[in-house]
Amino acid sequence: MQAPDSLMFITQRPEVMFVRGEGSWLYDREGAAYLDFVQGWAVNALGHCSPLMREALATQAAQVINVSPAYYNEPMRRLADRLATLSGLERVFFANSGAEANEGAIKLARKWGQRERGGAYEIVVFDDAFHGRTLATMSASGKPGWDRLFEPKVPGFVRVAKNDLDAVARAIGPGTCAVMLEPIQGESGVVPFSTSFMRQLRELTDERGVLLVLDEIQTGIGRTGRMFCYEHLGIRPDILTLGKGIGGGVPLAALLAREQVSVFEAGDQGGTFNGNPLMTAVGDAVVAEVSRPEFLARVSDSGAYLIERLRALSAEIGLGEVRGRGLLVALELGSPSGAEVARRALQGKLLINSPRPTSLRFMPALNVTRIEIDEMLARLRPAL
Ligand SMILES: *Cc1c(COP(=O)(O)O)cnc(C)c1O
Repeated sequence: MQAPDSLMFITQRPEVMFVRGEGSWLYDREGAAYLDFVQGWAVNALGHCSPLMREALATQAAQVINVSPAYYNEPMRRLADRLATLSGLERVFFANSGAEANEGAIKLARKWGQRERGGAYEIVVFDDAFHGRTLATMSASGKPGWDRLFEPKVPGFVRVAKNDLDAVARAIGPGTCAVMLEPIQGESGVVPFSTSFMRQLRELTDERGVLLVLDEIQTGIGRTGRMFCYEHLGIRPDILTLGKGIGGGVPLAALLAREQVSVFEAGDQGGTFNGNPLMTAVGDAVVAEVSRPEFLARVSDSGAYLIERLRALSAEIGLGEVRGRGLLVALELGSPSGAEVARRALQGKLLINSPRPTSLRFMPALNVTRIEIDEMLARLRPAL
């Protein structure tokens, strides 16, 4: 048992205290090195304390830290232009967390439904989805066990089965304004929607005149080897949310939308810290680095290597499926041993995550090396 401290209980944490990080490595108070394949939950795109981010932070901190979202600032404009160019979605709103970006997406879809679809406000969502921990985003999520938490839920979400186009077609009615999903469900264990489903869903939403909202908070910003996961699918959403990797470790998220869908009026949306120059300057440095073609090619290459090595290990010791894209990868264990494997891995100084009792998830820094992937496997093997 941990000594009582002043932190409000939200989860059981291990005893270890991390005091320093560099690249793929974390160090505790005794100086012991841990190989980090959690990376702040798929957040530290460039690893711990990358020189690029430290430089951006120090430079911007000496210029101006906060001018209020009521005024322009240079990094906010720069990063918005960069994201608009990369995504093909013309308008960008900055937020401080993924859940907040998704709240903004839900509000924007409802506002659009109010203006363009006779007051339609329902959003079709999917089983096992994860969209965040605010009341509306929990209501949109389909995480097992959440259905009875914090009642009453925010109304207006209709949940359907994954990869079932007929179910979506049936769920869309005159009251529907949007369909919202993660192209690969991260928290539910790296579970992708099929490419054919995603393409047909894009056609269906166009035909029926409702919006397609993609939550790429986990899959965006290079994680899958393309800047945005939808690029693999040959489609483009009407609304897109980004978080996690966009700040490389600092709190930053974004809501993007097509020009015609960007219907907020003065007073509809805002937030004290939104688009502050300190965070957007860091985000701009991270996104500039990750969007380089050579950087993305290396993510694909490292991801393919990680998957190949995990498949070999799984075949050798009789585990299950390895799935994922780029550097978002899961291994099925074949038994509900995930938490125990993660605990033993930590004893072996490897940080790894078990999103579901039967699976492990790998979400290293996007610039992880093959040597570090090999070292991860060497530390994982005894834990298995
Ligand atoms: C992490 C995550 C969120 C929530 O982001 P927070 O920054 O924790 O609020 C939402 N959607 C997806 C797909 C995520 O992975």
